[in-house]
Amino acid sequence: MIKLDDEEFQKYKKLGRGSWGKDLVMWKTMYTGLLAQARTQEFNPFTEMLLNNFLDIPKARKEGIPVIMHPFNYEPGLFFAMKLVPLMQEIISVGLAYVHMNEPYIDFTNKVGYGDNPTICNAQRPFISLVMQGAAPIPDLLLFLSTPCNSLSMSYQVYQYLSKIQSFNIDVPYWAYSQENEFYDEKTMEYMINQSKNLISWLEDKTNYKFEEDSFQQTMRLTNQAREYILEFNELLKTVPCPMPSMTGMAIFNTMVIRGGSPEAVKTTKYFRDIAAENAKNGIGAVPDEKIRIAWPYTHVFFDQELLPWLEKTHNAVVIMDLLGHYKVLPHDTSTTEKCFESLAMGTLDASMVGKCRGPMEYYVKYLVNYVKDYKIDAVIMPMHMACKHVYTMGMVASEAIREETGVPSLIFGCDSYDSREVTSEELRQKISEFINQVVI
Ligand code: SF4
Repeated sequence: MIKLDDEEFQKYKKLGRGSWGKDLVMWKTMYTGLLAQARTQEFNPFTEMLLNNFLDIPKARKEGIPVIMHPFNYEPGLFFAMKLVPLMQEIISVGLAYVHMNEPYIDFTNKVGYGDNPTICNAQRPFISLVMQGAAPIPDLLLFLSTPCNSLSMSYQVYQYLSKIQSFNIDVPYWAYSQENEFYDEKTMEYMINQSKNLISWLEDKTNYKFEEDSFQQTMRLTNQAREYILEFNELLKTVPCPMPSMTGMAIFNTMVIRGGSPEAVKTTKYFRDIAAENAKNGIGAVPDEKIRIAWPYTHVFFDQELLPWLEKTHNAVVIMDLLGHYKVLPHDTSTTEKCFESLAMGTLDASMVGKCRGPMEYYVKYLVNYVKDYKIDAVIMPMHMACKHVYTMGMVASEAIREETGVPSLIFGCDSYDSREVTSEELRQKISEFINQVVI
């Protein structure tokens, strides 16, 4: 195991010194926590990428480079191509859930009357409190999407209103872009590409930075190189026993949504692909004596980082991939600028969660039935946030389809992935253990 040596640790410590600005106090606290954690765990390209991402924001401030905030459903390639610095917001509002530091902010939104747990998702809701209390980073620009849910797009509108940042919104269409799909609409691709071009004009106007075709093509080539590695990684996870631990898919997703389009994302995705390939070749399973393969077609329970390792140890069960970690964007042709625009559009339309939640229920149901068959799944588990009504509904329908087509059982229950007080860690483990012991085995 490679650890962060003293010299590297001191280098990162030094880079993080000094004032980052009042609105970046929380951002800096998170960096300091990650650096301390990096000392005790394996230091790999993923951790290195995360540390650099934190440092990028104060550095951009110092150098006068515009920072653009975006949510977890849009990759930053276009921003890298235009030499802007991206800030993926959910690093904060979801990242804080890992250490329960989001909970006081959830309580504050309750107090000021901004939704409640069953109506608005706590993936973004605490961020409204953070901005009201002056603890949220204030970027120069904001981009957000109309999908995968009303909850997300509403929270970003509220953030935009409170912070007064100029924003651009991408409307993600309902229909498919592939002629082979029964929900194909010929306008889908054109509609997306036009919005990307409008976004570029808007960015040029707001920043005085110019769009250059060469830089865009280079970024899209890097994006697609990483997608090649992920495609191979996903294929390798079909091996029995599964060669990678339950949390790896999420790291792949984070890599692409934080750094997609950069050489770091290529390095990190290759790193995970190589380990998976080596383990698969040698018949090594991430879970010794693998007994159960689980599909988790929803988000992780972010407040309980020990849940999946617990499943691995207690039930010899591996979670193959969660809904976000199952990165389904395929590599594309990037030979011309127009092809790069198509790739950018397809990347957004097929993004994790977006691809399965943006249109007819069939997108999600078909995805899940194929997932269960392709990855030799024994059980489906979905602890679901009450605010996520559309996925809740689709999950129920999909579980029926899976039972009919494959006989594989599902466990779906209400749980707030971001708030440890709704359904506690103990209750979660009890429900999952009962399901495994009484239904699965
Ligand atoms: S978990 Fe559901 S409600 Fe929350 S952001 Fe994702 S799609 Fe929206």
